[in-house]
Amino acid sequence: MLVERIHRMTTEKLYYTDSYTTTFDAQIIARTTETNRPAVILDRTFFYPTSGGQPHDTGHLNELPVVDVVIRESDEAVLHVLETEPANDTVTGQINWARRFDHMRHHTGQHILSQAFVRVIRAETVGFHLSPDSVTIDLNVGKIKAAAVDDAETLANQIVAENRPVRAWFPAQDELADLSLRKVPDVTGRFRVVDIDGFDITACGGTHVTRTGEIGLIKVLRVDKRGEYVRVEFRCGERALLDYRQKNALMNQLAADLTVGYWEVPDALDRLRAENKALRRDLRAQHEIILKAEADSLWQAADQRDGFRLVVQAFENRDTAEIRQIAQHLISNPATVVVLGAAGSKAQLIAARSDDLTVDMVPALKAGLAVWHVDRGGGRPSFAQGGGAPANLNEVNTALQTAVKTIQTTMT
Ligand SMILES: [Zn+2]
Repeated sequence: MLVERIHRMTTEKLYYTDSYTTTFDAQIIARTTETNRPAVILDRTFFYPTSGGQPHDTGHLNELPVVDVVIRESDEAVLHVLETEPANDTVTGQINWARRFDHMRHHTGQHILSQAFVRVIRAETVGFHLSPDSVTIDLNVGKIKAAAVDDAETLANQIVAENRPVRAWFPAQDELADLSLRKVPDVTGRFRVVDIDGFDITACGGTHVTRTGEIGLIKVLRVDKRGEYVRVEFRCGERALLDYRQKNALMNQLAADLTVGYWEVPDALDRLRAENKALRRDLRAQHEIILKAEADSLWQAADQRDGFRLVVQAFENRDTAEIRQIAQHLISNPATVVVLGAAGSKAQLIAARSDDLTVDMVPALKAGLAVWHVDRGGGRPSFAQGGGAPANLNEVNTALQTAVKTIQTTMT
């Protein structure tokens, strides 16, 4: 009786022997909770629990969504996690086939690609990740040539095209000795082996297709160096098709936008980049000419008295670098004193003079800035600049007049 009860608590893990059954009947043999949600243990199940890098199946038990399937650490029981607890102990399980088949194709594709990298560059797979967003393997090499990636990809797709049988089973101990496993698991006791018709034999507990042709295209998307190893991102089957469809549409759109053939897109982009660079250079030169003209007209209009010209001007919404440039142009004229201000959230004041004069512009700048209660500013006797506090046009004009008074006091 005791033996019978222990036996009844153990779930028959049917996903090990059959990856294709999606509907089955079972009995609930225990009820529990998992992360605050109801969970049940069945006498038999086809639901694959998250393990070995492969995510769990989803589906239904009596129309109730199965949101997670996990292995309980204490006794390795398979917990079917639900949002709502089933009323009856007799349940019909329904597995989401699209998700399961996608996992089968990627898991089997991963075995083939991993073996292909062993054969092409003797690189071992040390990591595997499978999720709805990405599928990757990590290879124990520091770098990899593009041609080697192409070779491995070609070999992998050749194995697919040969439509080789895939067998998964639990070998007896004496049988194991004759198998040349790519990866030996770190477990005691019997373990499951997946054999892709002699091309790749490895230990694995996941769900796989029964013939390699079901995988469809195996496509490497990108390769990233990750310190000591290389991460290879790839897609199989429908995911590879969707990726191709999306990228093909994008490429066609780019080619249409650039009015070239898709193979001419890189050249077209190079031309655009060069054109953009030339235009920026021209624009800078034109801008310089405009600033020079603006400075000239300011100089012409400025007051001339006591043997020098005094240019006083307030600006609004002007770039500080531009105002500096205008000041530089102005003081390239002889006998010129310039006091410029820019209103804004970080208002600026510039006090400068031509080299043929001797008056120190720093005290004039500081007097102007004092109006704004700012003491961030200074420079050379011939060119001083400061500011950084907010000031409107009125406040800029007041500061300019204060600076001018200081200059006039010094120069007369
Ligand atoms: Zn596997």
